[in-house]
Amino acid sequence: MTEFFDQLIETLQNEALRRPGMNASQATLNELFSERKQTVPRELPAVHAAASAAPRAPEPMPGSSPAAPAAQEPTPRRQLVPGTLEHLAETVRHCRNCPLCETRLNAVPGEGNPHARLMFIGEGPGADEDRQGRPFVGAAGQLLDKMILAMQFRREEVYIANIVKCRPPRNRAPMPEEAAACIGYLEHQIRMIKPEVIVLLGATAAHFLLKREEGIMRLRGRWLEYDGIPVMPTFHPAFLLRQESAKREAWEDLKQVMRRLGIPVPAPGRTAR
Ligand code: SF4
Repeated sequence: MTEFFDQLIETLQNEALRRPGMNASQATLNELFSERKQTVPRELPAVHAAASAAPRAPEPMPGSSPAAPAAQEPTPRRQLVPGTLEHLAETVRHCRNCPLCETRLNAVPGEGNPHARLMFIGEGPGADEDRQGRPFVGAAGQLLDKMILAMQFRREEVYIANIVKCRPPRNRAPMPEEAAACIGYLEHQIRMIKPEVIVLLGATAAHFLLKREEGIMRLRGRWLEYDGIPVMPTFHPAFLLRQESAKREAWEDLKQVMRRLGIPVPAPGRTAR
């Protein structure tokens, strides 16, 4: 049994204990588990993977005679092919299109299988993601990993990205102008990956990708569409960490996604691969 299921069952049991008259039997629990502004050019500029990584020569010590220039190995440069996710990621790492570049430690382009059937899109990087340059690696990311496993996928089989690629200070939501400056990268990613289903994590992602104004309580669990691709909005894992009781609804949303992808929904108690 996955930890996600464990947490889900524990949440329901606690909820049942708080509600007089609610049957918390295992059977009951099992039953329950049964025109956008384009600011990024369509053709991204050519970049070299090692363009900014050339080692600098050390400064000479005061009073010392200038050292003969050391023979330097030419820095190997890997030409990235325009139109690939790797090329886009390198472009993002050098991007200075909005003020978030001033406060980031690392841009977080996104990661995963370039041919993923399933894509998860969140709001933006947090502190852990900013430090590591990778999406969803903090506590919320660990919960997302469990959700992915519960859906019979491995993390490396899906693709994970965000609306903005650099961390908004103090984890605030992205400003409209920041999202407008960055959304073109995500649009490129979606066009390249062509996922069969997109899962939007939280209302902010739905707001900026789909221009929906409703809160996540109204949006979640309903099939929407982006550029012909079915989209399922659900709760952000960070919200689920604060609101454990919402995990049951999140799991219902994820089960809809599994059915859409033709993946059997595991019965509670079964081991996910
Ligand atoms: S958030 Fe997006 S647009 Fe802004 S600097 Fe980072 S990559 Fe560029």
